[in-house]
Amino acid sequence: MNADLVIAGSGLFGLTVAERCARDLGLRVLVVERRDHVGGNAYSETEPSTGIEVHRYGAHLFHTSNERVWEYVNRFTSFTGYRHRVFTVFKGRVYPMPINLGTICAYFGRVMSPDEARALVAAQAAEVTDPRNLEEKAISLVGRPLYEAFIRGYTAKQWQTDPRELPPEIITRLPVRYTFDDRYFNDRYEGLPTGGYTAWLERMADHPNIEVRLGTDFFDLDAAGNVPVVYTGPLDRYFDHAEGRLGWRTLDFAPEVVATGDFQGTPVMNYADEDVPYTRIHEFRHFHPEREYPPDRTVIVREYSRFADAGDEPYYPIDTAADRAKLVRYRDLARAEKGVWFGGRLGTYQYLDMHMAIASALTMYDNRLRPHFAARGTKGAR
Ligand code: FAD
Ligand code: UDP
Repeated sequence: MNADLVIAGSGLFGLTVAERCARDLGLRVLVVERRDHVGGNAYSETEPSTGIEVHRYGAHLFHTSNERVWEYVNRFTSFTGYRHRVFTVFKGRVYPMPINLGTICAYFGRVMSPDEARALVAAQAAEVTDPRNLEEKAISLVGRPLYEAFIRGYTAKQWQTDPRELPPEIITRLPVRYTFDDRYFNDRYEGLPTGGYTAWLERMADHPNIEVRLGTDFFDLDAAGNVPVVYTGPLDRYFDHAEGRLGWRTLDFAPEVVATGDFQGTPVMNYADEDVPYTRIHEFRHFHPEREYPPDRTVIVREYSRFADAGDEPYYPIDTAADRAKLVRYRDLARAEKGVWFGGRLGTYQYLDMHMAIASALTMYDNRLRPHFAARGTKGAR
């Protein structure tokens, strides 16, 4: 094989490692990708009848407070000034999400100062003192009434798992604010790639030392032999599910071109009621108000969530106690696997935002890959 390093998977983790190893170390890198495009789940494409950029694997909003990651991604693309805001529908009314003073005042039907709202929620949250799962954590943060309105039904649809069996960390991703700040993310930097995700991702792979082989499964590759591997596919698949299958949630996306210039007036509308089968509707034109899109047509995508079967795309690790027990055993196997580094969302069974995937790839490059190749005078066997 004519490569110094093989990377299984061309998502942001694999592309970051490929780019660093090719550009910084001069290694010949072979990236094998099962799909027919690079970029993993951040990939986007143009809906042909409207020209609207649609994120094929669900809406992707870039945000980070990590200076190094921000500097790094700006080498490949500039970012628009987009700021993410979300609304949620509950019993026929619309509220801002994540829960902020606007949500609290609207839900309880009266004007409250930040201190009044804080005192009300604290009284309603007092029933939980030592939160050990998602439900308890959510109640401890926002109290039972707001939990039951905005979180319980949505979470039940999204995870199809009893919220008392889900880890508390899932809900701490959402801020709770006692101001009218209704921005979704707290990070210092935020925006969408000006020329679209695919242009960004393809630019990362654009180097004479990087060969990308699309439509190729890593496990069908002829004899990787002694060549070191960075593996970003599912961890359990690598070991032929020897310790059992890790639980994943998948999503079904139902796109539709609608004959109006504006379907919902905002990029993302969540649906908190349990009897609405989808969790949210994305309207992609609103991610790029700076672009010229048709005035009379728009693309909407309804999102449905369910457990992943063997043939489905694994999107979110469910991470129940049983999953975590299997994960410990897989991590032992991974540590013992010589010449293979496991990374990324699938390879570590971890929910990673894009900036986290990039940061962790840069860390692997600094701490593992660069020292490894330096010690072997660049062109090294495992
Ligand atoms: P992936 O992007 O999953 O890439 C892995 C790649 O490996 C895939 O292309 C896959 O085809 C390939 N592969 C797997 N097995 C093999 C094999 N055997 N052989 C060859 N190739 C293989 N992050 C944000 O920051 N903001 C968001 O708004 C956001 N929204 C998201 C919405 C959804 C629905 C999902 C699922 C994720 C979202 N993310 C978001 C997270 C973001 O997608 C991840 O951070 C990013 O995908 C991580 O990159 P990765 O390289 O680890 O994994
Ligand atoms: N969540 C909720 N109601 C909402 C939005 C989110 O209960 O309107 C919960 C839900 O459990 C979800 C978690 O908060 O899994 C994290 O939300 P986030 O928007 O980060 O999820 P993602 O967009 O990654 O699916």
